[in-house]
Amino acid sequence: MRQFTVEKTASRGIAAAPAYLYQEPDLSAETDCITEEQEENEILLFEKAKVSVSNELNLLAEKNDIFAAHLEIAEDFTLSEGVLSRIRNEHKNVQLALQETVEELALIFDSMEDAYMKERAADIRDVGKRFMAQLKGTQRPDLAQISREVIVVAKDLFPSDTVKMNPDYIKGIITEEGGITSHVSIIARSMGIPALVGVGKLLDSLQNGIEVCMDAENGVICIEPDHDTLREFQEKKEQFEKRQAYLEELRNQPAITRDGKKIALCANVGNLEDIERALPMNLDGIGLFRSELLYMENDHFPSEEEQFQVYKAAAELCPQELTIRTLDIGGDKELAYFDFDKEENPFLGWRAIRISLDMKDVFKAQLRAILRASAFGHVRIMFPMIISLEELRAAEELTTQCMEELEQEGMDFDRNIEIGMMIETPASVMLAEEFAKEVDFFSIGTNDLTQYLLAVDRGNRKVADRYSYFHPAVVKAIAAVIAAGHQEGIKVGMCGEMAGDPNATLLLLDLGLDEFSMSAGNLDYIREKILSL
Ligand code: PEP
Ligand code: MG
Repeated sequence: MRQFTVEKTASRGIAAAPAYLYQEPDLSAETDCITEEQEENEILLFEKAKVSVSNELNLLAEKNDIFAAHLEIAEDFTLSEGVLSRIRNEHKNVQLALQETVEELALIFDSMEDAYMKERAADIRDVGKRFMAQLKGTQRPDLAQISREVIVVAKDLFPSDTVKMNPDYIKGIITEEGGITSHVSIIARSMGIPALVGVGKLLDSLQNGIEVCMDAENGVICIEPDHDTLREFQEKKEQFEKRQAYLEELRNQPAITRDGKKIALCANVGNLEDIERALPMNLDGIGLFRSELLYMENDHFPSEEEQFQVYKAAAELCPQELTIRTLDIGGDKELAYFDFDKEENPFLGWRAIRISLDMKDVFKAQLRAILRASAFGHVRIMFPMIISLEELRAAEELTTQCMEELEQEGMDFDRNIEIGMMIETPASVMLAEEFAKEVDFFSIGTNDLTQYLLAVDRGNRKVADRYSYFHPAVVKAIAAVIAAGHQEGIKVGMCGEMAGDPNATLLLLDLGLDEFSMSAGNLDYIREKILSL
């Protein structure tokens, strides 16, 4: 028997079953170069593969939105251009041209610090594999064929593998790589399949059929469990299932502490699909709509109209507040279609509101789109990374300008739209009393606030043990911000990861936090915690 603990629980649950080792065929490119005469043939092979891939994805897209996004990647101009130019200009064969183009695009996302964006690289690579399988005429293993209970163990899984899984047979998923916001994790959560991801090297030491137990609540994997351990896992599984049923029942209850304080429970989202997934959790609204995803998934700055359509759909979907954060790009969040100059310290560089205020046309297009969407629901505007009253006022002034323009154009919008700001810089903490006089709400972004207050890079593994939102400096900052907000009678929420950590709930309630906004997967647990306090 071997037992070890792992960090990343992608989908909670307990499972015990024989291992199914998922191994991909060799999908690496042949590396031959081609002559000029062969170019047209290679291009033809690419075009044929593109038609087949598009057909496959069109069918899949009817069942799952993720494949609509994959279809867009497959048909994207940047992908085709990259492949064709490598064939024509660098005389690479189609396989090599494809492999290099996919890797180049995936690396752009890989290098982003935002975990969600980072894992979009997996989607690009998934599409790349689909193309490569076509070009090589090979079949990828099909998890849909599994008809006995197993735990799938893989290096990594792609959405197209995961979506075909039958949860009656696939009792658990363990991957050596991958993160908790990857689509694989999202799909596993939505199917209720327990999943542990990013567990490190495992496949080499396993054989097909070997018994595996996994506790994706506490992050434990046990290989070849003895009789007692197996029974222990079975008992844990039963308890877990009872708890899940109980948590689902709790969703009907508003989050009110036992001494009567109502706490708003909201979700952080990046797109419309996230909102749809979060709604069944009985939300009080969307506390953070990360609008940058809309910019990052595009190949151009989305126009006012393009943004309006998305924000309007979001407002219509969401019966309560929808807090749209204006563009939070820069640092390491790049845009494929915009050249950011290299910076010595990107996190202290041209980011978020700084970019918006410097690129007024881009900012105004977004503000106008948000304002127009406010005619269709309870929309709020939130500015990221503010450090001074001048910045806040400049952003507000532009908002007023947009309102006046829309007024003149006869467009409808909410004239009393609430305007708030994120508290995620030490300067905004120090000036919280002044800011509180000028905005309608605060939302504390502990992810950045922790890194800036402690001077600890939030994405650097070497200093990860020093990165903690329980650090007294962070806690004192949060306390001061909540007090400053309440002094001026405004609501103070939190949309950093701390809000979704049950270990922090009591502390945050005690400090008087009004609204907790988090990824949907944490909502049930925070509700349970609040109801118990
Ligand atoms: C934060 O900084 O806490 C936050 C919510 O914003 P992001 O994680 O998108 O930087
Ligand atoms: Mg932030």
